Amino acid sequence: MTEPLEGTVITIRSVLCEVDADGRIYTCQARGRLVESDTGESKPLVVGDRVIFSATSEDQGVVESVLPRTTKLSRTSPRGARTEHVIAVNVDQLLIVASIRKPPLTAGIIDRYIIAGHAGGLEPVICLNKVDLAEDPAEYADMARTYRQMEYQVLLTSAVEGTGIDALREALKNKSTVLAGHSGTGKSSLINAMQPGLKLRVGEVETKGRHTTTWASLLKLDVGGYVVDTPGIRELTLWEVKKIEVAQFFPWIWELSHDCRMPNCIHMHEPDCAVLRAVESGDLPEWRYDGYVRIVETIDEVDVPRDTDVEVPDKQVAKSRRAPSRRKQRQDLRRIAREEQDDEDDEDDLLGYRRL
Ligand code: GDP
Ligand code: ZN
Repeated sequence: MTEPLEGTVITIRSVLCEVDADGRIYTCQARGRLVESDTGESKPLVVGDRVIFSATSEDQGVVESVLPRTTKLSRTSPRGARTEHVIAVNVDQLLIVASIRKPPLTAGIIDRYIIAGHAGGLEPVICLNKVDLAEDPAEYADMARTYRQMEYQVLLTSAVEGTGIDALREALKNKSTVLAGHSGTGKSSLINAMQPGLKLRVGEVETKGRHTTTWASLLKLDVGGYVVDTPGIRELTLWEVKKIEVAQFFPWIWELSHDCRMPNCIHMHEPDCAVLRAVESGDLPEWRYDGYVRIVETIDEVDVPRDTDVEVPDKQVAKSRRAPSRRKQRQDLRRIAREEQDDEDDEDDLLGYRRL
């Protein structure tokens, strides 16, 4: 009997999975009791799981147990908007890829992805790609500065000219990362520039039969770490966020909101709103406010169950005039993440996230 090994589940196919243990790939079966496990997940094993397994040959083994998960990336089922299907776990970060031009840069989409990243417990990293297309670095400098002020890492890259690719490699090293962003922003090109030959399926629609569908797999990076390869991630959802909570992700709104008269002010039409006052006076740039409004408007409050234990941001905390820590934001969002199961293994054109 050999010593148990530890590895990462990189692909799941039916009852078999592939486990990467220090670079060696084992095709493993899961023991019966794993299937019966009470993890609350719709599948006992998920791509990204750290597992303990016994090798039965040089490339085969049996999974014995699953180690605790740190984060999870979910999709919602087309059958029910409130159900969740975990497609990958232990993902460290969300690389938000936006292009300077073609398609043009907008803060709104980046903000939405930032919130979705926090909602899944993933650290957002922003990548402004196609810098070669900018006539003047001033086109993106302001935005880069803004997000850096929010303490997000901002990478400036050109997949075509190779700009910033070393920094990208460094950012992804020894982490597991999922890439998100509009189609055509250069996600596949960036991965390919970083590691020639590595192909992402991000833009594709899954068309395989239901029993052969691979929900997600992990692509191994030469520098260490993985890229989560999930077909069809297109738009992100805010399905776990209430209107009142959105301001937490916009420090410039959050700080002003402490001076609003209404305790539940969402800074849209309320009387004596400090945020609206700042927009009118020009103290708050309109584009910053617009990014906030776009998100609030996409949230259908009726959709949110009334009985969740979501806490409205505490006005005492608000008085301290500080935005909540990033850790707190993540905790809040994880707390309200839903645990409902979805036992349908049907195809879905929106893996990962629901459309906003
Ligand atoms: P994805 O849909 O996000 O995976 O985007 P792709 O990687 O398929 O890129 C979409 C298009 O943008 C392709 O024609 C790429 O050649 C082009 N592209 C990607 N990165 C860059 C870049 O840094 N600069 C320029 N000029 N074009 C790029
Ligand atoms: Zn207000």
